Amino acid sequence: MVVCPQADCGSSNVADLPHYWQSLPAESPLKPKYAPPAGGAASYWASLAVVALGIVTAASGAVGLGLAVVVAGVVWGALVFRRSAKAAARLDVWRGSHVCLACTRRF
Ligand SMILES: [Zn+2]
Repeated sequence: MVVCPQADCGSSNVADLPHYWQSLPAESPLKPKYAPPAGGAASYWASLAVVALGIVTAASGAVGLGLAVVVAGVVWGALVFRRSAKAAARLDVWRGSHVCLACTRRF
């Protein structure tokens, strides 16, 4: 059984944060407070398009410029990937969180 870790609370009246959030009515002022963290919408396609553009540029003769564009696209893609991985980790933490219904502490 999960109990609240708050020293002066210790209540067992604890809810799963995702379930609690879903059960809140849309007009509840608490709805945004307990909302899941915003996931970084992964725009892999844009960085992939830049890589493709770089390959086309390199193939059409401007090899140096084309390679530079390819590298820029790959670096951009890596940044997008890292950001979305961090967002996914935050979402995992949110999914595993609880909320105490006695003192409203999140843990
Ligand atoms: Zn509590």
